[in-house]
Amino acid sequence: MSQVKHQCPLAPIPLCAGEEFLASPAESCDVLRVVKRAYDAVVIGAGPNGLSAAVVLARAGRSVVVFEGENEIGGGARSAESTLPGFVHDVCSAVHPLAAASPFFRELPLADFGLEWIQPPIPMAHPLDDGSAAVLERSLNVTAAGLGRDAEPYRDLFAPITRNWERLLTDFLAPPRLPSHPLAMLSFGARALRSARAVADKHFREIKTRALFAGLAAHAMLPLEDSLTAGFGLVLGAAGHAVGWPIPRGGAQKIADALANYLRSLGGEIITGRRIESLEELPEARAVLCDVTPRQLLRIAGRTLPEYFRARLARYRYGMGAFKVDWALDAPVPWKNEACRRAGTVHLGGTLEEIAESERAAWEGKSREQPFVLLAQPSLFDPSRAPAGKHTVWSYCHVPHASAEDMTEKIAAQIERFAPGFGARVLAHRSHSPAEMESRNPNLVGGDINGGAATLDQFFFRPTRRLYATPVKGLYLCSASTPPGGGVHGMCGYFAAIKALKESFSSRASGFENEKSPDALEG
Ligand SMILES: Cc1cc2nc3c(=O)[nH]c(=O)nc-3n(C[C@H](O)[C@H](O)[C@H](O)COP(=O)(O)OP(=O)(O)OC[C@H]3O[C@@H](n4cnc5c(N)ncnc54)[C@H](O)[C@@H]3O)c2cc1C
Repeated sequence: MSQVKHQCPLAPIPLCAGEEFLASPAESCDVLRVVKRAYDAVVIGAGPNGLSAAVVLARAGRSVVVFEGENEIGGGARSAESTLPGFVHDVCSAVHPLAAASPFFRELPLADFGLEWIQPPIPMAHPLDDGSAAVLERSLNVTAAGLGRDAEPYRDLFAPITRNWERLLTDFLAPPRLPSHPLAMLSFGARALRSARAVADKHFREIKTRALFAGLAAHAMLPLEDSLTAGFGLVLGAAGHAVGWPIPRGGAQKIADALANYLRSLGGEIITGRRIESLEELPEARAVLCDVTPRQLLRIAGRTLPEYFRARLARYRYGMGAFKVDWALDAPVPWKNEACRRAGTVHLGGTLEEIAESERAAWEGKSREQPFVLLAQPSLFDPSRAPAGKHTVWSYCHVPHASAEDMTEKIAAQIERFAPGFGARVLAHRSHSPAEMESRNPNLVGGDINGGAATLDQFFFRPTRRLYATPVKGLYLCSASTPPGGGVHGMCGYFAAIKALKESFSSRASGFENEKSPDALEG
């Protein structure tokens, strides 16, 4: 691209030899190797979307290098021993229905590069104060059977989506475009666009079912009275039946490692410990794909972007934040409800009304005594996550954007409410505030884990109507700030790379990538 100057990416560079040069000895080990001066494509950021974009480009025969600001790759798909030695915690994502469903991931040989899915016997349980629980089972019928008077309505709502899952999937996890299966999409879309509260009020009478649906919909990180929140609930519920809510053996890092190792096998390069502050730091390339949010793009691309586009990016809205706590335990969580002991994920927040209040408060910048808590307990199903007999627990709650409140005690109290005696099992914990998360990964603006709010105006056309493209030739966004948005699925990177291949290299990718143009409805 013409705006990017031909410069060494690893300044200061002491040695230059012909077409290649060596990094300074002060750079991290990963950079102490020969780096070329020019590539077909450069990717900024080695999150799941950046790595996916690089894979698409490398599979199309393009030379590609990825620059990652942290010393480890993975972004939101990382694991670390953050509490005690031997306790492997997922730094961000932990439970992966969207990765398991991703049409792109499914066609990659990720299993050959170490990715193995574990399906907990129950995808998700939602305990209530009376000791009962709503349970999202793999089987739709078994789930419905546990929901009393709502058995039939639950089946009516979820069966068409589960039945048409494969057809709908290519449109769920894609930019806005003419649907591949218009009839199936029409009936799904009519409900998905509504608010979770409206759909629950219309279909469900049991406290249990309403709570289950509210917990699923709360993944939208929006007030449950807002449009589209029903869509999150419907997709995540149906995913539980269609593909499960699996966890990777060894932790989320295994997803990033498998993508990275596959990329390297295709000749792609990854440089860690190199945070890019300006496009001018990059080697020459025809395409630059940025796994960053609009705020960082504004900084990195600077005045290269025209004023009107800078103004649009500046208007992009970030959503509520997350406050996360990793727990190291000397025994499993002592849940009152037995189903919770077999569930990979447990939603803690009581009734729909309570969850709705908690989500609205976080959205409006208010503190809540009893926040909605999302909890995963991977070591129950994957012994590699903790020393023998010990356990790891991952938990977070939604908080106001950039909130500085320490939520550790409130999260612990919510767990204790449904698992009395939890506190006595804690060996260590580590809390992560929005500010701390953002300091490690600038994509987590104010603790927003989805790369920007998924409001109606920002869900389909994000971050602008250009989606992946920018007005600068060869410069693209490929992060969760583009469709289809947050979650580990790689589809944002995939579609951005398809766009880059088409525009900057006049070429097309192979396999699933050929199915559809990403820009059918683009403005
Ligand atoms: C607490 C938490 C829990 C979550 N739980 C789940 C879950 O259970 N399931 C799920 O599917 N999703 C979950 N997510 C969301 C998921 O992690 C993200 O949506 C996903 O990682 C987005 O991928 P990405 O590639 O767009 O960005 P990221 O994963 O954020 O990766 C961006 C990468 O770019 C790097 N970078 C940024 N700026 C620069 C720069 N200037 N130079 C070089 N490198 C740079 C960053 O260091 C980072 O490695 C969670 C996220 C968080 C924070």
